[in-house]
Amino acid sequence: MGDKFAVGVDLGGTKILGSVVNLNTGRMVSTSKKKTRVVNEGLDLVKRISLVVADAIDESGMDPSKLAGIGIGAAGMVDREKGILLAAANLGANDVVLAEPLKAQFGLPVKVGNDVEVATLGELNFGAGRECNNFVCIFVGTGIGSGIVHEGRILRGGSGTAGEVGHIIVDNDGLVCGCGGYGCLETYASRTAVAKSIVYDLGRGMDSVLRDKIDPQKGILRSKAISQAVECGDRVALRAIHKAARYMGLGLATVINFYNPKRIIIGGGLVEAVPLFLELAEEEARRRCLRIPAKKTEIVQAELGDFAGTIGAALLVR
Ligand SMILES: [Zn+2]
Repeated sequence: MGDKFAVGVDLGGTKILGSVVNLNTGRMVSTSKKKTRVVNEGLDLVKRISLVVADAIDESGMDPSKLAGIGIGAAGMVDREKGILLAAANLGANDVVLAEPLKAQFGLPVKVGNDVEVATLGELNFGAGRECNNFVCIFVGTGIGSGIVHEGRILRGGSGTAGEVGHIIVDNDGLVCGCGGYGCLETYASRTAVAKSIVYDLGRGMDSVLRDKIDPQKGILRSKAISQAVECGDRVALRAIHKAARYMGLGLATVINFYNPKRIIIGGGLVEAVPLFLELAEEEARRRCLRIPAKKTEIVQAELGDFAGTIGAALLVR
């Protein structure tokens, strides 16, 4: 039997990435990319996705009828049965029917999943989760998301929300979180939290190489800029990383104590760009969690990087 192929689409807040992926090897045969939103262009989200899919298929040179289907990993809440994107704050979209129109256009089965779930599937099959049937994947970005793999399958929980590591409460009287609660892990340990901490220190007059690299209104700072600042010993950047990593360690300790995974896989731009973040978080986690799992739990970096989303999305079809 020959290899099977599917289209994987990573539908993110800023860009839509599409690839034809070999489902047997996890290798991408082609790639295509578009911005998620372009002001005044008048193309809706489904149309933009369909252009990315068509481009990816074109570039692969494959006959569309030979493909197993289209998988979409969306940054938001989804209805997997109906293939609907229910709510996605970063996409500014609600109740978008994705599966049906794409199925009609391409004549292929279409599966829709959440971005963290598909990235976890990617790591499970072709990344740092290979040959491990019991692990937690944690992705640090604008927020903190995670996927739990239990006995080789994704654990969804009683109502489908399992793995909300970003909302583990680490401070009783803490900062307000996007979820409406306060003191949640992601308000202390996400890339957004690191940027906020840097903006705060700059605002109170601390000197930093990051002063002209950050947009103080939006607090947007690229992982690469943080990494360069850390490498040159910038005090503001180091303070922010130390603080965020310490909280991340508390979150990891909770995950370890509660679920006792064999392995924790951590990914996201900040984790890749700033190795110190994971080092410090791991140190704190092992110091704070129970003695036996502290010795046994493996903590490793995710392997698929930016491609976890497209490779994992394609796997939804399998
Ligand atoms: Zn929260």
